[in-house]
Amino acid sequence: MGDTIDFAVLVRLLRRAAAIVRAHEAELSRLDSFGGDGDHGTTMVRAMGQLEGALDAAAGDAQTTLHEVGWAIMGVDGGATGPLFGSLCMAMSGAAPAEGEIDAPTLANMFDAGLAGVQKNTRAAVGDKTMIDALLPGVRAFAQAARSGGDIAAAFAAAATAARQGAEDTTDMAARFGRAKNVGDKSKGAPDPGATSVALLFQGMHEGLRDDG
Ligand code: ADP
Ligand code: MG
Repeated sequence: MGDTIDFAVLVRLLRRAAAIVRAHEAELSRLDSFGGDGDHGTTMVRAMGQLEGALDAAAGDAQTTLHEVGWAIMGVDGGATGPLFGSLCMAMSGAAPAEGEIDAPTLANMFDAGLAGVQKNTRAAVGDKTMIDALLPGVRAFAQAARSGGDIAAAFAAAATAARQGAEDTTDMAARFGRAKNVGDKSKGAPDPGATSVALLFQGMHEGLRDDG
């Protein structure tokens, strides 16, 4: 049994990720109200609407589709989210195949490229209380599982767990990037909204993979 996903499954994972973010809109905005301006849920839902629109129009190859998704998300105004999550998808597209199935090492390369794309837009590191705190461990966990021979489901499970842990770990941090930086220590006590979104995206992709519908 070849452990790969085809384009239809990729679309299913992304749609499930969008749905789970949508279901957490109020929670994400609430988290952004501690240190930010309380709009993260609204902005993420707009980004997910752009993602779904691009998937509706998708022609059938991962590379072009992720590029279109990234471009669409990039166009979401309202601050940091559009550029950060848009560049994630745009950069993933560069490592995605133009045709055929996608295996675990290729998915690992795509996530690595996505992380690198985000890191071109921010110097935030783990510990700065941003989406990087969930994205970096999630991507690393995916790669480690995939490159040690794990199947795609195991890699998504590892990534979802690591991203969730990374997001939770931001609770006691003081923000050093983004709007929440302005409130300093007052941002302590709640997890970073962007990191929480990343955890939800990995959870959604993992759930979408298990859902054979
Ligand atoms: P804004 O702060 O512009 O209102 P959002 O509320 O949609 O944007 O998103 C806030 C999230 O974006 C933060 O929780 C953080 O994870 C992420 N973020 C903001 N600025 C940066 C940055 N410079 N580097 C990395 N992540 C950032
Ligand atoms: Mg905000």
